[in-house]
Amino acid sequence: MSFEQINSFGNLRHLITLEGLHKSHVELIIERARRYLTAVGEPPPRADTLRGQTVANLFFEASTRTRASFEIAAKRLSADVLNLDVNMSSRAKGESIIDTIFTLEAMQVDIFVVRDAGPGIPEMIARQVAPHVCVLNAGESDISHPTQGLLDLMTIMLHKGDPGKLTVAIVGDIRHSRVARSAHRALSTCGVGELRLTGPAELLPDDHEFAGAVRATDLAEGIAGADVVMALRLQKERFVQLSEIPDPQEYFRRYGLTEDRLGVAKADAIVMHPGPMNRGVEIESAVADGPRSVIREQVTNGLAIRMAVLELVHVHVRRARGERR
Ligand code: ASP
Repeated sequence: MSFEQINSFGNLRHLITLEGLHKSHVELIIERARRYLTAVGEPPPRADTLRGQTVANLFFEASTRTRASFEIAAKRLSADVLNLDVNMSSRAKGESIIDTIFTLEAMQVDIFVVRDAGPGIPEMIARQVAPHVCVLNAGESDISHPTQGLLDLMTIMLHKGDPGKLTVAIVGDIRHSRVARSAHRALSTCGVGELRLTGPAELLPDDHEFAGAVRATDLAEGIAGADVVMALRLQKERFVQLSEIPDPQEYFRRYGLTEDRLGVAKADAIVMHPGPMNRGVEIESAVADGPRSVIREQVTNGLAIRMAVLELVHVHVRRARGERR
């Protein structure tokens, strides 16, 4: 893509998409994130890296974990954090998004974290903000969710090492999934061995998408011998017609991950899900809470990834503001 996310010093400025991001940048973010990993129950890592900088979380679409994750990440790095309440937002009063951004810029917000159901909003904002300001995409339509792609790749690498040797199977509503698109991008950038997409034909992506991936409509075929199995939510909010949404029981019968069906995957395969999970639809509880599940680790790793991304872009803010440290 032509839009530049890296500044003239080679530092990350915006994170709108993993498209076009070099392997070295992906590896750098993951390496930094590893430093922020501590086990649940241990004191969380804190730093004063972002002291004096202001992060605004603008979520124009529902979110629990991503919003909480960005908020905690920014606070652990000592930023001032503003969470804009969507219902109270001026957008509901008809102000354009960009006017909201300019208003917040006038209050010296340095980093915008943006989620929107529409396509193109994070990039549109990034093109118009002041030179020192950074924009991070926290979920854009069905197109992109870069920090999710990074946390998924990190989780896979922490458990399984080099993705080049792995078979990764994504199962479910891939057509409507920004998680799957960002996972594909992250895995392709780092050279995945084999990526398999499995789901009902109508929920598989168009043929021109997901270059290099193998497709299956049969679950056993899709996950046979896989090292990683990632289930996705049926994203009901993105179906054009309600009548297109699969019947949950029928869907579970064909595509739900159960201990039994996972028998064809590798014996040490890990199971992932970006959340929120529908137990009994995409996955049974015995799997979600079982020994193969790394679902909660994904959440922990997500926080570390967001700290790493904030840490990297804060360098741009400082430099562009002419600060020395
Ligand atoms: N939380 C993820 C997302 O924002 C996955 C989902 O909603 O199903 O895309």
